[in-house]
Amino acid sequence: MTGPASGLPAPEPEMSPEAEPYWAAAAEGRLVLPRCRRCDHVIWYPRAFCPRCGSVEVEWFQASGAGHIYSYTVVRQTQGTYAGAVPYVLAYVELEKGPRVLTNIAGEMDGLAVGQPVQAFFDPVPTGGAILRFRRV
Ligand SMILES: [Zn+2]
Repeated sequence: MTGPASGLPAPEPEMSPEAEPYWAAAAEGRLVLPRCRRCDHVIWYPRAFCPRCGSVEVEWFQASGAGHIYSYTVVRQTQGTYAGAVPYVLAYVELEKGPRVLTNIAGEMDGLAVGQPVQAFFDPVPTGGAILRFRRV
């Protein structure tokens, strides 16, 4: 199955119940992230406790989805779900609020560079859920 927005594979994500606010927003194309009320750490991946200080006082906020490419590679050979999608871009994107997200950069690969600004979007998954990906702005 292919994500309609990116043309990349769209395997069904593992949607843990504790991250329900994230998945509910993702289904509407919005990026919502958890933040620790005690130490202000923005938590990735989405979960209901803070991996930095252990607090369970977590609030969910609407993130802008803006970030930049922290690191990336072009995958030219792989196995499994993504085998038919090569070449594609696997990247760490650093969101403006801090977390680094392992993701894909959709769209044209020419001229891709570390530091370039990117914007989040969600690839709807036909079987349910949505995958967070980015494109250059
Ligand atoms: Zn914390």
